[in-house]
Amino acid sequence: MIKRTRQILYSNILYTAFIILSLRVQNLWQRWRKGNMFMANEIRQGMMEGQFSVHYQPVFEAATGACCGAEALLRWYRADGSCIPPSVFIPEAEKEGVIVSLTQHLFGIIADDLSKWQIETPFHLSVNIAGAHLQDKAFTKDIQAFRDALKVPVRLVLEITEHTLVQDTILASLRLNALRRKGCYVAIDDFGTGYSSLGLLQSLPVDYLKIDKMFIDSLTSDKAHTPVLETIINLSKRLGLKTIAEGVSADHQAKWLIDKKVSFVQGYYYSRPKAAFDFYQWYCGQHIK
Ligand code: C2E
Ligand code: CA
Ligand code: CA
Repeated sequence: MIKRTRQILYSNILYTAFIILSLRVQNLWQRWRKGNMFMANEIRQGMMEGQFSVHYQPVFEAATGACCGAEALLRWYRADGSCIPPSVFIPEAEKEGVIVSLTQHLFGIIADDLSKWQIETPFHLSVNIAGAHLQDKAFTKDIQAFRDALKVPVRLVLEITEHTLVQDTILASLRLNALRRKGCYVAIDDFGTGYSSLGLLQSLPVDYLKIDKMFIDSLTSDKAHTPVLETIINLSKRLGLKTIAEGVSADHQAKWLIDKKVSFVQGYYYSRPKAAFDFYQWYCGQHIK
């Protein structure tokens, strides 16, 4: 009898604990969802209030050391003065379905920035494209409208991660090839960190490989043993692709990459991303003979 009563008591305790835990999990989930919705709404409001801007990180030709253009990187400075990094708001914008409108907004800011610049030689302009945008039916039209809105000669490079290209290779290839025929270029961003099979690389519509910072970091000294980095550079050459080494942050890394005939370099060693006005002033200074 006592054993039976104890069993009932234990199962009641367990049941109550289960209910409390479930309610707690449900509560946490709802708060998390609410937080995300809040972020999506804040992004929409931030766009309306002009809180987003673009910083431009110079890209250099490795052989000559000349700046040939820049990568556009979105920045979010909120009304209270805080700055939310793209590593936080871009994934949220993707998750909450606002990445397409945020990228359209980015295009508008870039077109506006470049309308104030006088550039004669074709300018390498890289923009980051999210997977959801590439899959969206508005994608091709958005890119064409963006190109048409640029009033300076630009080599428009669409930076797309390996992961995105592999998700729906057929659709991605069709859309990117159509844009390449119209004069756009495609770069695989963060190369080496994703999932691309080497076989697939041959058929992807790609012009540049951006070697991820992780591999550049493996150049810890000028004597460092870096078989993977060397293989990526050789592979890229064999495939007829141009290489961009990103995240170059030390003198010995720059020398090593130039020696290996990497096409382009980018990183804090050369320059950090700059606000539009600062970038343009700096760029003009670079091109005064
Ligand atoms: P990403 O496309 O790989 O961009 C390079 C990131 O590395 C940038 O960070 C840049 O500031 C940083 N970086 C460049 N050189 C160095 C270096 O030498 N050392 C170090 N430690 N960092 C370096 P950022 O601007 O914070 O952007 C982070 C990521 O957010 C980007 O990585 C990209 O994936 C995403 N992102 C930024 N802007 C946009 C955008 O407009 N659209 C989309 N879809 N994604 C964006
Ligand atoms: Ca990029
Ligand atoms: Ca990258």
